[in-house]
Amino acid sequence: MARLAELRSIVGQHHVVDGEELRSRPQDFWNNVPTTALGLVKPGSVEEVSAVLSFCDRRVQPVIVEGGRTNLVHATLATPDMVLMSLERLNRLQPPNTDGMTVEAEAGVVLENLQLAAQKSGLRFGLDLGARGSATVGGVLSTNAGGFQALRYGVARDQVLGLECVLANGTVLSHLVPYTKDNSGYDLKHLFIGAEGTLGVITKAVLRLHPAPQTVNTALLAFDSFGAVVGALRTMRQALRGTLSSFEIMWREFYDFNVAAVCPAAPPLPIGFPYYVLCEAEGFAPDSDATEFEATMAGLLESGAASDIVVAQSSRQRADIWRIREEFQPEIDLFKVMLDFDVSLPISTMEAFVDETATLLAKEVPENLGLHVIGHLGDGNLHVTTGLANPERKAEVQKLIYGLIRRYRGSISAEHGIGVAKKPFLDHSRSADEIATMRMIKSALDPHGILNPGKII
Ligand SMILES: Cc1cc2nc3c(=O)[nH]c(=O)nc-3n(C[C@H](O)[C@H](O)[C@H](O)COP(=O)(O)OP(=O)(O)OC[C@H]3O[C@@H](n4cnc5c(N)ncnc54)[C@H](O)[C@@H]3O)c2cc1C
Repeated sequence: MARLAELRSIVGQHHVVDGEELRSRPQDFWNNVPTTALGLVKPGSVEEVSAVLSFCDRRVQPVIVEGGRTNLVHATLATPDMVLMSLERLNRLQPPNTDGMTVEAEAGVVLENLQLAAQKSGLRFGLDLGARGSATVGGVLSTNAGGFQALRYGVARDQVLGLECVLANGTVLSHLVPYTKDNSGYDLKHLFIGAEGTLGVITKAVLRLHPAPQTVNTALLAFDSFGAVVGALRTMRQALRGTLSSFEIMWREFYDFNVAAVCPAAPPLPIGFPYYVLCEAEGFAPDSDATEFEATMAGLLESGAASDIVVAQSSRQRADIWRIREEFQPEIDLFKVMLDFDVSLPISTMEAFVDETATLLAKEVPENLGLHVIGHLGDGNLHVTTGLANPERKAEVQKLIYGLIRRYRGSISAEHGIGVAKKPFLDHSRSADEIATMRMIKSALDPHGILNPGKII
């Protein structure tokens, strides 16, 4: 309690939460159980972040920094001896710089607010994901989030020009540059992006913006073979002249299930095809984009590449199609003990990987509650999900699937990070030398191991 009194003296009486108020918060998106921690501290400035960390470092007090707590890998899980640090008060957003096409945002800014601010200035922030209403700038950078538009704009890392962050000992590293080219020594920002709060606390970033597209065209396509899906991606990349922004694949089991759950009366395409793709193009030519998009879709249908296609004719129809891809509460309900594998693979081996996963699950874990596969195909990223009625064989299923990923030389984490959930499998995707180097970096930047201990490595 003396520690909390010290922290209150740094951030103010009302900005440290403990006791019943803290316990009444759900732990994170997945765990609707009370938060356990010594306390939750909410600094209001980079100076306060620095003072809190410096204090905790001297006391060897573990600190877990949190944003919107939407991570899917238990990355903000705390034990009763830890202090949580929320950056929700660091939520200032500067007006976008329309000439430089940049924006400066504090770490606690919610992704959707950043997207809207960019939009109001005729610009676009190039990152979008389902948790946009809660995930924060600090969180998406610390997990190097991917999402729906990485195909066009890249991942979170690609949006960052400058970064301010605070080391475990309180040192503030501020390099908030608003330009692309900067080869003045090591590019330190990349150490903190994707580090899941284990190397420093991100407090502010200068982010890249893009011209806001003037048109959006969306379609849902059905395919009879995986080869046809890959062929359609190739065709669209060329025919749509760089405007393709999303290419989301859904295997039949997922589509059929989610259509029945979210729009049983009026599915945009009939169920039963082996593969479906939601594709979207965002362009700058209001006079011709829609015609070109429709011609590309018609070409895919006429050539027999696609088996059926519906092009959204209104923003309502577009939203309905996206809902099939985005809505996953029905899946959570179905799968009870849900196991979500967020993996990367070369496109050339995806079909074989999914087939082998299905065979393996049927043979080794016949009591599984189904297999849903969706993904950001253009990025090589699949989300493979299954479920169990109870958690007894959970670890076994993880071993099976991650073992397969290792054999296919894929990544055990495409975009969600490692956290606690994937830590035992890190060596499936990274060599012993790489992990040893990660440990060296960790001990150089956080010698007392106070930042998000027990996560990643
Ligand atoms: C419905 C839903 C859909 C999702 N879709 C996607 C998707 O398409 N693509 C994708 O990549 N992810 C997705 N996610 C996962 C999640 O939204 C992302 O991981 C997101 O980036 C986490 O942001 P957050 O602010 O909630 O971070 P948190 O969950 O609070 O934290 C995540 C990690 O970052 C660290 N951290 C947070 N803030 C800071 C900071 N300021 N400095 C240092 N470390 C920090 C934490 O310690 C933790 O390790 C989805 C999640 C949900 C619930």
